[in-house]
Amino acid sequence: MSNTIASQPLLPAVESFLDRPVHGSFVAGKPLVSGSGETIATHDPGSGKKLAEVSALTAEEVDRAVGAANEAFESSDWATMPVNERAALLHRLADAVEKQRDVIAQIESLDAGKVQAQAQGDVQNLADTLRYFADMAQHMNPRTTLAVKGHEAWTYRKPWGACGFIFPWNFPFLLIGWGISPALAAGNTVVIKPAEDTPLSAIYLAELAIEVGLPAGVINVVTGSGAKTGAALSANPNIRRMSFTGSPEVGRMVAEACGRNLVPVKLELGGKGAAVVFDDVDVSQTADKLSAAITFHTGQVCCDATRWLVHRKVYDQFVDACVERLSQVKIGHQLDEQTQMGPVVSAKQRERVLGYLDKGRQQGATCVLEGGPATVEGYQGHFVKPALMAGSLDNVAAQEEIFGPVAYLAPFDDEKQAIQMANHTSYGLANSVWTEDLSRVARVAESMVAGNSWINAHNVFVHGVPYGGIKQSGMGGGVLSPETLMDYYRSTSVVRPLSD
Ligand code: NAD
Repeated sequence: MSNTIASQPLLPAVESFLDRPVHGSFVAGKPLVSGSGETIATHDPGSGKKLAEVSALTAEEVDRAVGAANEAFESSDWATMPVNERAALLHRLADAVEKQRDVIAQIESLDAGKVQAQAQGDVQNLADTLRYFADMAQHMNPRTTLAVKGHEAWTYRKPWGACGFIFPWNFPFLLIGWGISPALAAGNTVVIKPAEDTPLSAIYLAELAIEVGLPAGVINVVTGSGAKTGAALSANPNIRRMSFTGSPEVGRMVAEACGRNLVPVKLELGGKGAAVVFDDVDVSQTADKLSAAITFHTGQVCCDATRWLVHRKVYDQFVDACVERLSQVKIGHQLDEQTQMGPVVSAKQRERVLGYLDKGRQQGATCVLEGGPATVEGYQGHFVKPALMAGSLDNVAAQEEIFGPVAYLAPFDDEKQAIQMANHTSYGLANSVWTEDLSRVARVAESMVAGNSWINAHNVFVHGVPYGGIKQSGMGGGVLSPETLMDYYRSTSVVRPLSD
C-alpha cells in the first residue's frame, strides 16, 4: 500500500504492518480474528484517514484469551523457570523493542496522534521499564523467615496467574510497559485490552514477544470496544488480578465487575493537577516549562498541570509570558518534524475540549487566550489551539478533566491559601510547586492531597519513584516502584508449632 497519510513516506516496515485486511487480536501466540466478523477502524488523528481495521472480540473470545493466559501460566515453564532465565527473556524483548524503536514509534505516532519524537521516547520507556523490573525480580527473595515465639514460620511469594490490563489511548505503548513489566517479571501471564482508538502498538508488541522466545500465551491482546471486550475482560472470573488505567467513570465500572468476582483491582485514573507558582521564581523559565507541559501530547496527559495557581505579585507578568509562548506553538501533523503540538486523538475528544471552553465561559470564566479549533493546511485532523482560562476555581473547567491543551489560572496571596486552592479538587494525582525557597518546598509539597508532588518541574517520571493517585485519581498502589513488583506476587504464610 502506498500510504499518503503523512507528508513524508512511511517506513517500509510500518507500511507492511498496516497493510493487512484485518488486524487480529493476539491469543495463545497467534493472531485471532473474531468469528463475529466485527471490526473497529482505527484512524490517524492528524489526517483523519483510516489506518487499519482491527478485529473486535466477543466475550467468549475474551474468555479464550484468559484461558490461554492461564494455560501458559500452568503449563509453559514461564512461571516456574529460574528467575534469571525469565529476566533474560524480558531483556531480549527490551532489546527487540529498542531495535524496532523507529518502526514502533511511527506506528504509535500515527495511531495516537503523538509527535514522533515523543513516541520514540515512549517506546524507549517501555524497554527501560522491562529491564528495570526484570533486574529487580532477580533480587527478590520469595521466602521471608518470620521470628515468632514457639513456631517455625515463613512467608512465600508466588505469581498470581493470569493478570488483566485495560489501557487508555493517550500513552498506549508506554503504559503497557508500566503495567505488564512487573507482572511478567514476577512470572505472571497477561491479557492486554488496548483502547479502541490505539490498538496497533499492543499487537506489534505481542508479535515481537513470540519472535524473541516468550512462550505462547504469556502476552495476549484482546482488541475491541470498551463496552463489550473491555467489560468482558473485567468481568472474567478467571483473571487473578486486574489493572485499569483510564477515566474514573469507567474505573468504577471495572472495579464493580472485579468486586463481584472478588478479583483484586488497581485503578490509575484521571487528574486535575495544580502548579503552584510563588513570587520568587524566574517567571520566564517557569512560563517556558508550564507552557511546554500543557502542550505536551496536546494536553492529553493524566498528570498534567491544568490549574495554574500563581502568586498575585507575579500573576500578570506570568500570564503575559504564557500567552506569548502558547500563541506561537507550531501545530501540525504529528509526523511533520516542525510540529510542536499534534492533534487530539479523535473528533470526539476535540468536541470535548471545545465543549469545556464553552461550558467554562458560560459559568463565568474568562478566556485569557481564546483557544478553539485549529486548521493545518493539507490535513483534516483533529487540531485545537492552546487556551488559557481564568476565574473561580468552582468553574466546571477548573474542576473537571478536560484532557486538552487548556490551563485554568487563578491568583493567590499566601502559602496557606495556595495549598487550600491546590487541594480544592476531587482528584489527587500530581501537583507541582515552583519556588526558589527550599524551606518552603517540602512544606508545600507534603501538604498536597495527592499521590505525587514535583518541585520546579512537571511530569517527572523516574523508575523507582512510585506514581499513583488517590481520591478520584486511583487506588490500589500505583506503578513504577519496587512496591509495584510486590503487587504481582501473592503471599502464603507457612507455620509449624514447635513442640515444648
Ligand atoms: P476510558 O476510561 O474511556 O477508557 C479506558 C479503557 O477502558 C479503554 O481501553 C476502553 O476501551 C476501556 N473501557 C471503556 N468502557 C469499558 C467498560 N465498560 N468496561 C471495561 N473497559 C472499558 O479512558 P480514555 O478516554 O481512554 O483515557 C483517558 C483517561 O485515562 C483520562 O481520565 C486520563 O486521566 C486517564 N489516564 C490515567 C493515567 C494514570 O496513570 N493515572 C494514565 C493515562 C490516562
